[in-house]
This record gives sequence, C-alpha cells and structure tokens, in this order.
Amino acid sequence: MNLFADVEELKGIGPKTAEILKKYGIKTVRDFFYNLPRTYESFQAATSIQEMRPGKVVIKGKIDSLSTRRARKRNLSITEGMIHDATGDVKVVWFNQSYRLRQFTLDKEYYFAGMYELKNGRFQITSPSATLVTDVDPTSALNPIYIAHGALKSANFKRLIRNSRNRFSEIPDLLPNVKSGERKEALFLAHFPNSIKDTEEARNYLAYEELYELILAAKLNRRENEKLKAVDIPFDAEKIRDFVARLPFKLTNAQRLAAWEIFKNMEKATPMNRLLQGDVGSGKTIVAAMAVYEAYLSRCQTALLAPTAILANQHYEGLSNLLNGFGVKVALLTGATKNKAELKKRIVTGEIDLVIGTHALLTDDTEFKNLALVVIDEQHRFGVEQRQKLLLKSPSGLAPHLLAMTATPIPRSLQLTVFGDLDVSVLNELPKGRQPIETHILEGVEAKPQLYPKMQEILNSRQQIYWICKAIDDNPRTETTSVKSRCEKLRKIFPKAKIEFLHGRMRPAEKDEIMDKFSRGLIQILVSTTVVEVGVDVPNATLIVIEDAENYGLAQLHQLRGRVGRGSVKSFCYLLTNGDAEPSRRLRELEKSTDGFHLAEVDLKLRGPGEIYGALQHGVLDLRIASLSDTKLIHQAQADVEKFLQSGENMLKYKELMAGISRYQQLTTLN
Ligand code: ADP
Ligand code: MG
Repeated sequence: MNLFADVEELKGIGPKTAEILKKYGIKTVRDFFYNLPRTYESFQAATSIQEMRPGKVVIKGKIDSLSTRRARKRNLSITEGMIHDATGDVKVVWFNQSYRLRQFTLDKEYYFAGMYELKNGRFQITSPSATLVTDVDPTSALNPIYIAHGALKSANFKRLIRNSRNRFSEIPDLLPNVKSGERKEALFLAHFPNSIKDTEEARNYLAYEELYELILAAKLNRRENEKLKAVDIPFDAEKIRDFVARLPFKLTNAQRLAAWEIFKNMEKATPMNRLLQGDVGSGKTIVAAMAVYEAYLSRCQTALLAPTAILANQHYEGLSNLLNGFGVKVALLTGATKNKAELKKRIVTGEIDLVIGTHALLTDDTEFKNLALVVIDEQHRFGVEQRQKLLLKSPSGLAPHLLAMTATPIPRSLQLTVFGDLDVSVLNELPKGRQPIETHILEGVEAKPQLYPKMQEILNSRQQIYWICKAIDDNPRTETTSVKSRCEKLRKIFPKAKIEFLHGRMRPAEKDEIMDKFSRGLIQILVSTTVVEVGVDVPNATLIVIEDAENYGLAQLHQLRGRVGRGSVKSFCYLLTNGDAEPSRRLRELEKSTDGFHLAEVDLKLRGPGEIYGALQHGVLDLRIASLSDTKLIHQAQADVEKFLQSGENMLKYKELMAGISRYQQLTTLN
C-alpha cells in the first residue's frame, strides 16, 4: 500500500469528501489512517431511563420534540426537549448547540451519553453526545468518536474507516527496532477496539512512534547544523559595556546572562541556533538589540522578522531610537513601505545594518550584502518555508546565526524532545518595579456595573484600555459580539473617550495608523481582535478586557494579558464569561497566577495526552497522541533513537520514516 497516495484512492471517498478532508489536513492515505478517534464511548453500558442514577449515563432512546430559545443571559441559546424509551422519558438540554434541532430524525433510535443531574429542581440530561444506533458497529464494544470536520461528523468518519477495514493489513512497518506488524495492529485497534485495554495498547505504541520521530528529527537537525559554517563575530567587551551603560535602565541579571550566551555562540563559526524565551514584558528586545549591535561592530547585517506589520513598526521605532545613536542604520520593510526598490538597493549595498520587516522581507528580490544574524520575533508564527527562505539569503554559503524570541514558555519535557537541537536562553526575571497584573473573572452581563466604573477610573487617570473581541463582523449564528458592534456600544457608554477598533482584515496602512495613534495616546480604548496578541508594547495601557474569555487557550490568554502591566503603574485584566457555566479551571488558574512557566505546566496537565500542545497551537506542531508529560516513554524513545543512530544502519532504508521526520525537522529547527 502506498501510504502517500491521495486519500481519494480509498474506497468510498469521492472528490467531494476528499475536498473536505483535505481542507482539514487529511490529504493522504496515511493521514486518513492516522486520523484517530478523539475518545471512545461504551454503549454496552446503556441503561433504561427508569434505571438511571445521577452522574454519567448512557441511554438508548428517541427524541420527542426539540426547540431552541434564547436565554436572558447574553450569548446563550438553549436547545431542549424530551427523550423517551419503553420505560419513561427524560428532559434533555444542550447549550449553544442549536444545530441539534436539525440533527434528529424523530422515529429513529439514538444513544445519548451525558450527565444526568438535578437542575432547577428537575432532573435532566445535560449536553449529551448523540449517536444513531445504526451507526454503532455491533461487533465493537467501544464506539470511537471522531472530531467533526466541517460537514463530516463523527459518524461519517466511522463509515469511511469501516470501508477501509480490510486495508489495515497492508500498512507497512515504520520504525527500526520495533516488532514487525506492531504498527498496523496499533492503528487497527485504535479504530476498532474491543476493550479499553485495546485503546491503551494502541495509544502506547502510537505515542512512542510519534516521540521517536520527533527525537530522531531533533538529533538529525543538530548533526546537520554542526556541519554548517557561519561568520564568526568576535565579542567586543568594551563596546558592549559602553552600550549597556548608555541604556536608560539597568539590565536584569537574566538579560545579562542571555546576552552573554548569545555572544558566545556568535563567536563560533558554527551557526547559532538559539531560542530566547522570556515571559511577556521580560525585555527580550533589548537582548536582541545587543546581538544586532555586536553584528554591526563586525560590519555584518541583521534581519529582524516580526509576525505582523504592527509589531514590525513598533520594533522599528524602538530599535531605531535605541541604535541610531550607536551608528547602526535601521530600515523598515513591510508591505506598506513606499519606494521598496530603492530601499532594497540600500540593503544589498550594505548601507543598511538592520532591516526590520514582515513577510515582505522574504520576497526573492531582497538581497543582502553580508547577512550574518537573523532575529525572529515570536518564532512560532512563522511558517517553515518562510524561515528557510530567509536563511537562503545569506551570500557566500555561510549560514546566518539565528536567534528566535518567544514569549510562549516551553516546558522542559518539550525542550528535551522537540527542541533537543536548540540552545535555549531564558529570561526568568521581570525588570524591577513591575507590579503583578490583577486579574478578575467577571461573569455575565451583570459584571458590567463593576466594569464600567473601573474603565472610567482608568480613563480619568489618562491611561488606556484594550478590549478584546473574538469576531470581526457580527454573525447571527455565533452570537459573539464583534469588534465593530462592541466599539459602537462603548462609544455610547463613554461618549467623551476616543474609541477605535482594530482587526486583521484591515489594510496594513489603516492598522498601522490605529496602532500608532494608540501608542501615542490619541486613542483611549482600542477594541481589537487578537491581532494585538503578540509583542505590542504600550506601557500606558493598564486595563485589558477579554470578552468571551472561555474561547481562548491558556497560553493565548496569558499572552493577551501581557499587553498590560508593561510600565510601573498597576494594571488590570478582566476576563468576561457569558456566565452560563462555572468558569473553567483555565480561567481560575489565570486569575491566580501571572507566571507564564507555571501556566504552561498547568496547561499541559489540563489538556492531557493527545491534545494539541498549547504553546504551539498555531499549527506548528500538532502532537496527536504523545503526551509530553510521559517521561518514561520519552526516555525509552530517546534511548532507542540513540541506538539506531549508533548502529550506523543505512537510514535510506526507512523511506517513510525519513519522509515523516523531515516534516518534524523543518518544524522544530530554526534553519
Ligand atoms: P518582551 O520580552 O515582551 O518583548 P520588551 O522587550 O518589549 O518585552 O520590553 C518590555 C518593556 O520593558 C519595554 O518598554 C522595555 O524598554 C522595558 N525594559 C526592558 N528591559 C528593561 C529593564 N532591564 N529595566 C526596565 N525596563 C526594561
Ligand atoms: Mg516582544
């Protein structure tokens, strides 16, 4: 079987289905088999309605009627009705799932699995899953539940995978030093388990396989990096000391150490491959500026890549202020730059020492004279191809040194496996005088009386406010308030304040203008989508309101919150929820802690095995199975990879493995 064949090769997958699958990343036969169930339900435990006891229940029944109403609380639709079986009936309720109205055929039988509980004096089943009885494989005791992709619901995936049931035997082995046939067996059991033990065995093997690939990729990266040559940039102690002395503040110890580690790397003729990790506000930019200055002293150029034009602008302003005084010529190159051709000429002649930009920097005709350092801010925002393009821009076959900065903390277990080929510097200390951000969860509309006076207070003291919304436009189906309508509402409440909105679909020039006005204090309240998430630095902003906070992951919320608390004045963060459920553990953790590393560990625990790893949720690394908290399995895989590498066996024999890890290699390395 050719695992890399188009998914359409499989029985029952026509062009239409294939199109949806591909949209969700399932492109090949391999992707299809590795699209594993999210969880499993056991329907053998189904009870009759009469026998139900409070707690988790599974019943088999028919829907009598359903209707949806809007709750008084904002943002909440309630779909409710009755389920009956031969022994009785029971109320069923779903929140914000109005599609349930269209899901059921009235005289068909479904399994419902959910919580049976007392609500408002009456027993009901809350938010159960619903599976057509005829969709359940009678030979399997466990019913796999797949993540729905667009029009393809779990039941569709089940049907599709059943069509290919007899193809599993053709799946070839993948890893060296693993028992032959183990892989196809694990995949089969993952889709067609007969017991919990089956699913555990499957997961165990597949997690091992994933870790093995990651670790092998990291080790090969390190080998390859060691073969490359870079410009060695000598450490100029005197000039650097002078530079530091002229800064308007004292460096933190963490900043000093990180800078020193970077200088040590740059002295070598092997390219630096360093990740500078520091919580929001820890002062990564100044550390990068020191590296830029060091390169400049050796007559070398630096490129600094930022994920958004807003951020590129801000870096440009900050860094040219700082570096111009030292003779460093700084230029900005974004989509909005006028006279690009002329600027590019000044880059290729070496007149410009530091170019700051977005993707526009990556177009083929931007060439450098002697690019020796590349700084990437918020590295996980960049695609692999983009990074590689930039590295190809170094003339003379020398690879530039690479410094990637990120505010997303990476737990140690992940560092060891995925980023095993990177050197890491950590800024684990905030500049002096910062006060922790006070965070509160405010539930429902009722929260507003508490909120508006606080906002007024902030406005009165001439400080500024961010208000984060999920959506750009109003959408009657999702019921979330868009930036536009929130902006209008706030203008009515605070008629004297200057309030504007910002979102990712605005033209770059418009965005820059708004952001520029906000940073100069000409806008008091900025209503925005998460485009302000990374790196934006307006120290006078002291309150951030995050609407529909439950919609974001912990890492992202922490990032957003980091937009405030950047000066010496006390800052606040309000997390608004719609109040129809208890605030999640995520939000409560955020309320308690401002420590990014602690929150990253919590996130890892909360998400548990098999979930997409939060720190890298921007589509970079999607660990499907492996749990990065499974240290035993990590060590096992590490030892086995080492054995394989030592054995000197020809790697080309393992074609699929090599193809698979080249994906990881590109993802996890910086060059
Ligand atoms: P981040 O790590 O989030 O990118 P920045 O580099 O933007 O943080 O720095 C945040 C703010 O802190 C900036 O205004 C910067 O000038 C300031 N800053 C950086 N280092 C120090 C320091 N050692 N002491 C005081 N302020 C500092
Ligand atoms: Mg930054």
